[in-house]
Amino acid sequence: MKTIHHFIDGKSFSGDSKRLGKIFNPAIGEQTAEVKLATTNDVTDAVNNAKKAFDEWSNKPPLHRARIMFKFKELIEKNEDELTKIIVSEHGKVYEDAKGSLTRGLEVVEYACGIPQLLKGEFTENVGTNVDSWSVRQPLGVCAGITPFNFPAMVPMWMFPMAIACGNTFVLKPSEKDPSCSIRLAELLQDAGLPDGVFNVINGDKEAVDALINNKDVAAISFVGSTPIAKYIYENCAKNEKRVQALGGAKNHCVIMPDCDLDQAVNGLMGAAYGSAGERCMAQSVAVAVGNIGDKLVEKLSKKVEALKVGPGMDRQSEMGPLITKEHLSKVRGYVDLGIKEGAKLVVDGRNFKIQGYEKGFYIGGCLFDNVKKNMRIYKEEIFGPVLSVVRAKDFDEALNLVNDHEFGNGVSIFTRDGDAGRTFSNKSKIGMVGINIPIPVPMAFHSFGGWKRSLFGDQHMHGPEGVRFYTKLKTITSRWPSGLRTDPEFVMPTMK
Ligand code: NAD
Repeated sequence: MKTIHHFIDGKSFSGDSKRLGKIFNPAIGEQTAEVKLATTNDVTDAVNNAKKAFDEWSNKPPLHRARIMFKFKELIEKNEDELTKIIVSEHGKVYEDAKGSLTRGLEVVEYACGIPQLLKGEFTENVGTNVDSWSVRQPLGVCAGITPFNFPAMVPMWMFPMAIACGNTFVLKPSEKDPSCSIRLAELLQDAGLPDGVFNVINGDKEAVDALINNKDVAAISFVGSTPIAKYIYENCAKNEKRVQALGGAKNHCVIMPDCDLDQAVNGLMGAAYGSAGERCMAQSVAVAVGNIGDKLVEKLSKKVEALKVGPGMDRQSEMGPLITKEHLSKVRGYVDLGIKEGAKLVVDGRNFKIQGYEKGFYIGGCLFDNVKKNMRIYKEEIFGPVLSVVRAKDFDEALNLVNDHEFGNGVSIFTRDGDAGRTFSNKSKIGMVGINIPIPVPMAFHSFGGWKRSLFGDQHMHGPEGVRFYTKLKTITSRWPSGLRTDPEFVMPTMK
């Protein structure tokens, strides 16, 4: 069986761990590889190599770093099919969706190519008489990234291209459920000319994460994953005096106003709720039907959910692939059982979905609940599967209050033809990313990504301008030089005087 190792100092590294994790192909439900789970010593090795590489790398001109990013971008494009297939084989999502997620990561690399412009700083002449002042942003040192299973290329690429372009060195700890993409990206960065030790990948679980949090040479940690772990990371990094941004879970609402273009809203919701089998932090798992639109919405949705083409990610006909693991599948099924017990109406039941030839795959069909109430656990908790809950609200205010009272604040959308409703909603909603007639309002790479409330612990969002701020420290220099040194022209060499 194939073993996936770490990548440290420009080469594959096996480390001293005897512990191994299992990697499955979710489409067939079979183990395809095993992955090394790092010890604290392995993590120390990775950090030490990153630390050794920092001085030289941070002193390279930003233009030099940008040129490596340009080359890396070319290599990702050239190897797009291979990278996409790695994502599909370990995560399970459908090919086009996996390719799309890679593109969203690539866009961060493209943004990082502009690092000479982004790091230019500010200058004021004469802050006092003959005194000038300027501000520069300098890299932090060794930065680490800890990432979730659901976007094995995109989420790591929210972090390391920005960190490296800013002059830091990096240790990535990807999800132990689908680690191969990170290793391939490390190889491509090396092919692009990145010096050894600037980017390292350490595979592992809690032991590796704790080793990163406790390593005094790690200056900053970027985390994306579930809320309890995000909070743990945030608190412990703060305790250890590290800079930290920790993005957590979500429960994203889609508010359907009675005046909206219902077909547009339903199509948007289908992709947003069932795309990537709901394993997206921006998935919309709650549709808030406002006024009298609920019955029509449920009728249109239920037909489409029943017709969803569920199948292996490599089958180009599939619209939705399997879930990542058997354990996650039973957790999602458990939530559907719970919803029934809690009194919600299960309109479409995908729990017993089976596909011929792939009986061992981790599949579930799309599920749709109606009459979901605010106090139910299926409303309050993140399910992270293809389960959409319809909640009825009598008017706009009730819908807005639902959104604002929820503990999570990642993304939200409103579908309406009323500009006033759209504008008031975007202004009043306590959510980090808002869409108006847009189902998944993920910001482009040149803006920044992040939620509010318990969807993000820390101050700065990921990539875009906030990414530059997160991965650099501000320094402000004030200087005065003697002036009026020479008043008359001089015609002799100064040394002759
Ligand atoms: P997870 O929290 O289980 O794991 C995330 C990372 O933390 C992994 O690298 C994992 O190895 C590590 N980890 C797990 N348990 C740990 C522990 N006890 N101590 C220390 N480290 C630990 O998340 P997941 O299941 O891989 O991903 C799904 C979650 O990620 C969902 O909640 C989803 O909403 C969230 N997510 C959020 C965003 C966002 O931008 N807010 C984006 C993608 C995913």
